[in-house]
Amino acid sequence: MSACPVQAVAGIYPERTIIQNQLVMKGQNIPTVIELLILYKQGIKEVIGESPSQVKLWRQPVEEANSILNQLGERPISISLKSVEDEVYYSRREIFTLWKTEAKSVLKQVVPARMRFNQNALDWQKYYQDYQFTRVTIDQEKCILCGACQSLCQKKCLEIQDDSFMISPQGCSGCQLCADACPEQAILVEDRISKKQETRLPVFQNVCTACHQPFTTLREDDEKCVACVKREMYVKNRKLG
Ligand code: SF4
Ligand code: SF4
Repeated sequence: MSACPVQAVAGIYPERTIIQNQLVMKGQNIPTVIELLILYKQGIKEVIGESPSQVKLWRQPVEEANSILNQLGERPISISLKSVEDEVYYSRREIFTLWKTEAKSVLKQVVPARMRFNQNALDWQKYYQDYQFTRVTIDQEKCILCGACQSLCQKKCLEIQDDSFMISPQGCSGCQLCADACPEQAILVEDRISKKQETRLPVFQNVCTACHQPFTTLREDDEKCVACVKREMYVKNRKLG
């Protein structure tokens, strides 16, 4: 679920054990980097486990998440061997001490509902709104403003207006749907962390010298609309073939 860039896999994510704001290594499901980055923003800065083999298994996603956090100027998630029993004991004692007065809120602290994911909660870019994690580039010489990319992008990163083509990659999941669908291979989506940045490409309203109809284009000096250009290419290829 958390690996899918478009949150297309439905369901409830495996439950995690969180004690005193520490994520406990438990079960067979090792967290993904995305899950760790979301938990980090929810206050989980430490991962604890009791066996060296568990720590070895969990180290890789934690290190990958830390590499991203480092680029964002955030402190890393620590990973350590620790007696979980002590932590559990402390939590239980805390529950019984406060049970009569604050039963519900204490339970929430031990297994916080906000840390139980479903697929909709795995849209991790929204937790890091000052940054973008991909670079989306449109080749102005190739794009024909067909709008296919805009229709497919679920994150609303691409928007063609009357006078501009806005590229806003902050929410981009890197799914590559736009690049795969582009008939002109005019889109490049790359993994690249940087401060959030929008790009505005000017859209020109020209009149086609062949059919005399108005058309939109990213190239100010375009003389013919896409339909006429394609028709002429087709006729030319038929003559050659
Ligand atoms: S799909 Fe490609 S050609 Fe069509 S508008 Fe998007 S970038 Fe331009
Ligand atoms: S811009 Fe492209 S790669 Fe990014 S979310 Fe939209 S469709 Fe996916």
